[in-house]
Amino acid sequence: MSTFNTNLENTCCFIGGEWIAPTSGDFLELTDPSDGSNLCSIARGQKADIDLAVCAAHTALSGDWGSMTAAERGRLLFKISAEITKNVEWLAELEARDVGKPLSQARNDAIALARYLEFYGGAADKVHGQTIPYLNDYTVYTLREPHGVTGHIVPWNYPMQIIGRSVGAALTMGNACVLKPAEEACLTALAFAKIAHDCGLPEGALNVVPGLGSEAGAALSGHPDIQHVSFTGSVATGVKIQTAAAQNVTPVTLELGGKSPQVVFEDANIDRAIAFLINAGIQNAGQTCSASSRILVHKSIYETVRKRMSAAYSALTVGPAMSDHSLGPLVSKRQKELVDGFLDLAKRDKISIAAQGKYVADLPKDGAYILPTLLDNVPFEHPLAQDEIFGPVQVLIPFENEAEAIAIANSTDYGLVAGIWTKDGGRQMRMAKAIRSGQIFINNYGAGGGVELPFGGYGKSGHGREKGFEALYGFSTLKTVANWHGE
Ligand code: NAD
Repeated sequence: MSTFNTNLENTCCFIGGEWIAPTSGDFLELTDPSDGSNLCSIARGQKADIDLAVCAAHTALSGDWGSMTAAERGRLLFKISAEITKNVEWLAELEARDVGKPLSQARNDAIALARYLEFYGGAADKVHGQTIPYLNDYTVYTLREPHGVTGHIVPWNYPMQIIGRSVGAALTMGNACVLKPAEEACLTALAFAKIAHDCGLPEGALNVVPGLGSEAGAALSGHPDIQHVSFTGSVATGVKIQTAAAQNVTPVTLELGGKSPQVVFEDANIDRAIAFLINAGIQNAGQTCSASSRILVHKSIYETVRKRMSAAYSALTVGPAMSDHSLGPLVSKRQKELVDGFLDLAKRDKISIAAQGKYVADLPKDGAYILPTLLDNVPFEHPLAQDEIFGPVQVLIPFENEAEAIAIANSTDYGLVAGIWTKDGGRQMRMAKAIRSGQIFINNYGAGGGVELPFGGYGKSGHGREKGFEALYGFSTLKTVANWHGE
């Protein structure tokens, strides 16, 4: 058993403003992926706990939470944001230990959570309906209203950022939330609930039920008394969630996977590009839905880019999360096996490794570590260039011209983020229009960044948009009122 103290009063379910033991009495063990040690146990919430949480959320809507004004909600979000800022170090350590994220990257996530609440707090009283010109003896207007109870099912890779963008936006619009964190990463979700409650968030406005996806997650997504589901995770689970929600005609936002390209043309500013090309692939050990895992390079500069990226790769270090190296471990041994499987595929198909990082000397032997790997000259239709690896593996793909670059960029099932590197203004605009992707970055790349920037997928990357102001429309519904005032 680890001696790590979470400093949480409780790792049970947080329902109706109280810490409640799971009805089954069962708990799950969390492992620190940096050394394989046991971290702590968390509630194994199930259907009965989800029922209680949904009920508490409905009670909140008809009580103190539902009667708050938009401005009051905004001020409360500011207060929670300020408290999170005070607790950045605590939250960062919880996340680093829980998912193996290097400490400075975990710190950035906590800062991003505070920023989401600040952004949405400021927006709370600025989402307006409209008046619509209609017949002369009518006045027609629209009202923006919360959905009601919203379910939030989040993965382990960026728990704090995803809670900020989905729960933050949902609370802003006056919904009451039931949050099901990933079984591998619950601690910051529970810490967030504690901070929000201590700041005065009315009981039942936010409920957290940790547990397995197949139990608590399935119970939430198929619950007849919720009015919206926001899911971030894998395509396979997204399909299950949409299918379960469809039985109750519950609307769903899906933020799924990606195989995001960066396209480097012959006139690119390579000095600027190199860090973006690499960071977007190795940040959070590549376990980022918007990771840039495909680097498409014009053949005239392919050798130069390969050499420059290889040199930078050789300087990358891999070690325990709390020692804050370029990369920590993967989230689990299971995830490591998945990524190792892709590297075996490269070996089998004689795809050569252009460069790898290195392990630190005192690497704990039971950690889920893997070296960041740059693969050379990968055929664009190969599974390594088509499938989401969700680990620190990037593929280099040469291209001949703009048309071929577009065809390769659009060749996967996904469409989450794309980067374009060129100084040619016409080409920037042609490429931005031609690539099917929810976000396009020109001469920069933002994997996971940009609280203000609407984010979401084309194709199997999902549907609906979170982040930015756009999320506030997704977490609300529209009522049209046609008022006849003739004699
Ligand atoms: P996952 O789909 O296995 O799990 C995500 C969440 O869904 C967890 O909370 C899990 O408990 C829950 N879940 C699992 N089965 C469920 C079920 N049957 N019903 C309801 N809930 C269920 O995904 P993961 O392994 O945690 O995350 C990796 C995947 O998520 C990658 O494919 C990645 O690209 C994607 N992802 C996407 C984004 C995005 O914003 N687009 C962000 C992060 C991760």
